Amino acid sequence: MTKGGNRWRRFDEWDARPLRLDNFAVEDPANGFSAMAGAADPAPSLTLEAGKVAVMDGTTEADFDLIDAFIARYHLDPAVAEEAMAMPSETVARMLVDVNVPRTDLVRLAHGMTPAKLAHVVAQLSAIELAFAFAKMRPRKTPGNQGHVTNAKDDPLQLAADAATAVALGFDEIETTMRVARNAWSNALACAVGAAVGRAGTLFQCASEEAEELKIGMAGFTSYAETVSVYGTERAFIDGDDTPWSKAFLAAAYASRGIKMRCTSGAASELLMGFHEAKSLLYLEARCLCLQRAMGVQGTQNGGIDGAPLAASIPGGVKSMMAENLLAVWLDLECATGNDARHSESEIRVGAKILPFLIAGSDLVCSGMGTIKAYDNSFNPSSFNGEELEDYLVLQRDFAADGGLRPVGESEIIDVRSRAVEALSAVLDELGLATPTAEMKESVIVASGSDETRTLSAGEVGRLSEAIEKRGITALDVVEALAKRGFAAEATNLLDLLKHRVSGDYLQTAAVIRDGRILSAVNDPNDYAGPGTGYRPTPERLAEIDAIRDVLDRETVLAEEGRYRKDELHRIGYLPKGEAERGTDPREVVVGLSPAFGLKLFRTLAGHPLSAVLRAIAAGIEGAGGTARFVRLRHTADTSFLGLSAANLAGSGIGIGLQAKGTAVIHGKGRMPHHNLELFSNAPVTSLDHYRTLGRNAVGYARSEPVEPVLVPNPGLALGARFHARVALIFAIETELTDAEARPEALDVQWREAGP
Ligand code: CA
Repeated sequence: MTKGGNRWRRFDEWDARPLRLDNFAVEDPANGFSAMAGAADPAPSLTLEAGKVAVMDGTTEADFDLIDAFIARYHLDPAVAEEAMAMPSETVARMLVDVNVPRTDLVRLAHGMTPAKLAHVVAQLSAIELAFAFAKMRPRKTPGNQGHVTNAKDDPLQLAADAATAVALGFDEIETTMRVARNAWSNALACAVGAAVGRAGTLFQCASEEAEELKIGMAGFTSYAETVSVYGTERAFIDGDDTPWSKAFLAAAYASRGIKMRCTSGAASELLMGFHEAKSLLYLEARCLCLQRAMGVQGTQNGGIDGAPLAASIPGGVKSMMAENLLAVWLDLECATGNDARHSESEIRVGAKILPFLIAGSDLVCSGMGTIKAYDNSFNPSSFNGEELEDYLVLQRDFAADGGLRPVGESEIIDVRSRAVEALSAVLDELGLATPTAEMKESVIVASGSDETRTLSAGEVGRLSEAIEKRGITALDVVEALAKRGFAAEATNLLDLLKHRVSGDYLQTAAVIRDGRILSAVNDPNDYAGPGTGYRPTPERLAEIDAIRDVLDRETVLAEEGRYRKDELHRIGYLPKGEAERGTDPREVVVGLSPAFGLKLFRTLAGHPLSAVLRAIAAGIEGAGGTARFVRLRHTADTSFLGLSAANLAGSGIGIGLQAKGTAVIHGKGRMPHHNLELFSNAPVTSLDHYRTLGRNAVGYARSEPVEPVLVPNPGLALGARFHARVALIFAIETELTDAEARPEALDVQWREAGP
């Protein structure tokens, strides 16, 4: 509030953080801003008369709106309704987190519960209980993931390359949409070809206007659809010129053509549209989900979706999105668990939001991770985009959790991108649609995003797309073109997907295709029943997850040091001269070097050559009127003991202990081992000037003069994260060379080159 003199300056700093770009809204149930307790949320109730619903959640049949009527008729199972509704919500909530209650029992009960009852039950759970219950209740055992493949130019070459990249990363489903609606056919064809590179079975969607999307599906290019939106209030439906019946008809139309079908709903969509009826996010979503089950769709993508940023602005909004995902799987719907539209500018909030789903596992952890860069994401920037995708890979590794993806090496990525671009170019050429030049292809293969490509013009893309539609080109024509131009593997992969369309096996709940085989809730049911059960990544899968790039090991560290060795040999020599004697010169400061110093290790963590560090220390000592004597200590690698041992040998009683990684200490004879005079523990930020001052200060202590200790600044960076793995590996190399019995060794340090 207060600017100027009377403000704690930390607030200025907080103001500058990305978090402050987020909007936060006050809880206001009367105006729809409530996660779980809307002003007009009904209490759960159900009255059956002659097996028919007479009153549901406080509304009598005569007053039912379209949604009530649909739910009452097609969702509620009268055979279980009385039993389920009579159970206290707390009891059911506990059953959801009880590993001894089978998932199937709970699914049965859900079929007899009204929207208000379902919402009331999950509202009893804490965030961790929601995540746990989700892990138990999700339908398919093996987790998966879904990614967006789009670009700002609707460039088909880039779409093919990015689709192939997404397939290599392991996405089970990829989806595209357009900046320009008429490019739908071109996008669809390009992604279908790209998704056929590398392996068969990646399902693909082209999100478009509903009728056109269905046509594209019927032409064989796409294999799933999830753009059929449903809402929790009647006005929101009618405003979109729809009813539950029209949506159900559309869903059936997709399924009848072998297209996997999922609805879209999610917190705050009604609030965004202004038709919230003063009901909470959770209650409205419970209505949506009952509706979806009643429609007979396979699954849902929910968990906020487009409303996620608004839901997240409300107290408990993120928790509410977790609760709605749980409702979906409890109702036995496949769930693509949101985590798509980015709900926050804060990377911390984004990382926190994904975690429960990553560790619980989900049919599709994200219902649209951006496999492309944020600016190329035509849906909207996702929680994770191409920029942050590696962070996600590392989160999988951190938690030994299968989030559906795998790291891909640089050469594999180039291979699949090249293959996809060549395959698509061949198809476009074969079908007389376009003939991309070598320059276009090359620019796309290495491009991180569409800003970097020199490719087909917007006009060419539009004409190409219209030609595909007008000429009635189908996926079979593409298969034929691929085969004719030598892309046999891609032709087979695309044809495989079309065969699956005919068999219809992936119309089962939560179906994905892995290794040519359908995995679904039917043949891969989630059988979680406590520790040791349910999905556990195999050792092979864990090894795949762990294989991120640039992982340090001992050999890598030694090889890197080996490359520095040669340069150091030109600069310095360490000639051993037998056992070191105790000195008598009161000006003498002894520098005790660690066991591997200059033998196996050659530079500090700050990157200084060890020769330069020794020169700086010697210059500091000599500049202050002292003399430097070097010894190698092999009985210890510990800085304090190095320093103390050096001090005990020094005529002045002052010694410097120095490890190869650059950690240094000034020590005094007779002091307690860890009670040193000065410690330079922050080796990564210790400069040569610091080492020079260290030498000077050692002389000052020798003369008992007042000394200003050196303050190596703390840069506030996560130095531990940057260095600790290397530090541990280096220290192991030092300790391997220690010998408890070894005597201090006198060294004749020979400077071989003019110093810095
Ligand atoms: Ca999606």
